[in-house]
Amino acid sequence: MSGLRGQGDRARSHGVAVLGGGIAGMSVAAELAASGVERPVLLEAEPELSRHTTGRSAASYIPGHGPPPIRALIAASYDRFAAIAEDAGHPFLRPRPVLHVAHTAEEERTLREDVLPLGPVTELTVDEAVGRWPALRPEPLRAAAVVEDAMDADPIGLHQYFRQRFRALGGEIRTRAPVVGLGRAGSGYRVTTADGTALDADLVVLAAGAWTDRLLALAGAAPIGLTPYRRTIAIARIPPGAPVRHDDPFVVSVAERWYAKPEGQHLLVSPSEETPQEPGDARPDDLDVALALERVAEVTTLALRSVVTAWAGQRTFAPDRTLVVGDRPEHPGLHVFAGQGGSGIETAPAAAALAAAMILGEQTPADLRRHDVEAARYSIRRIL
Ligand SMILES: Cc1cc2nc3c(=O)[nH]c(=O)nc-3n(C[C@H](O)[C@H](O)[C@H](O)COP(=O)(O)OP(=O)(O)OC[C@H]3O[C@@H](n4cnc5c(N)ncnc54)[C@H](O)[C@@H]3O)c2cc1C
Repeated sequence: MSGLRGQGDRARSHGVAVLGGGIAGMSVAAELAASGVERPVLLEAEPELSRHTTGRSAASYIPGHGPPPIRALIAASYDRFAAIAEDAGHPFLRPRPVLHVAHTAEEERTLREDVLPLGPVTELTVDEAVGRWPALRPEPLRAAAVVEDAMDADPIGLHQYFRQRFRALGGEIRTRAPVVGLGRAGSGYRVTTADGTALDADLVVLAAGAWTDRLLALAGAAPIGLTPYRRTIAIARIPPGAPVRHDDPFVVSVAERWYAKPEGQHLLVSPSEETPQEPGDARPDDLDVALALERVAEVTTLALRSVVTAWAGQRTFAPDRTLVVGDRPEHPGLHVFAGQGGSGIETAPAAAALAAAMILGEQTPADLRRHDVEAARYSIRRIL
């Protein structure tokens, strides 16, 4: 669609309405505003932004994470994170290597066949691995590898950056605005919120995380087949005198049975579960919290017994576990930006730029193409 920029005469219509105020919606809204789309508006169901998955992540940036199209977005995001940091005068990434650990023969095979070939990964001896995380018990450890250039991300700071940018470019944010109606109006769409307010927009972007298929259904469009999977995080108390340092790595079991990293004076742990759920406000299950403590305790000298707090969030994946962007021929202008799965933070800078270009029918930015980020790999049109 053209006709989005420089149409100041259509005073009551919005160039774009972005539905969902997590990192996906906020980042693409800022990119669209920066591209000159007129009167952009973002609608968020909750009283505050970032209340769902975006506020509940493990905040990591891991080169080589996920399937190839996601890895490409992670790599392409690095320079954009740096540019954003420069602009904001605040770093959104801080070094924290990832230590992959294998405790069974099968995990060792996975490490060698699937993890080591990824490139930015270096194999370590058992002694070296214990040197990197002294809490590990050496006897059950079979193999390990490290991703040196992994980082801790700052999801809320990043969200805040995109929000400020969107507002500075004239974007409007409406919270407590759950969208309950979505239909064609002229060449665009009419969006209705629960209080009966309606607005017209040339383009709509469904960036509602776990709820995106529901919004497609409101518009009478076929679902993508997104599945929200619950994942739990607990902040465990570290026993006095335990060998845990604030700059320890992010330690991940190769079989994705658990992960752990320092969080202030505590230890962030997860059982890495993937429990399919309906879209909603995920709550931690006591059993999953107990599993996380138990699995970490099994392979370390840490007797983890109590938690300060725990939460859960929904990681929402398309069937092929790759980001979904764009519109379908039968619903032109009704775009999605969903399926960020477990990578919505680490991919955000590049994914938002890609999505804005796809939505506006423009070429993928050259810096993304250098990392093999090509629109067709992410297009909704791949999903039949
Ligand atoms: C435990 C856990 C660990 C994670 N760790 C990492 C990590 O280390 N690194 C990483 O990169 N990613 C990680 N992720 C994934 C990352 O958090 C997500 O990919 C990302 O936050 C998804 O953002 P989103 O904006 O799509 O979804 P959300 O943040 O859920 O935002 C969707 C928004 O849409 C709104 N909405 C829904 N329906 C409507 C409606 N009808 N009208 C208006 N608004 C609506 C919702 O209220 C919500 O605010 C993790 C996730 C979890 C749960």
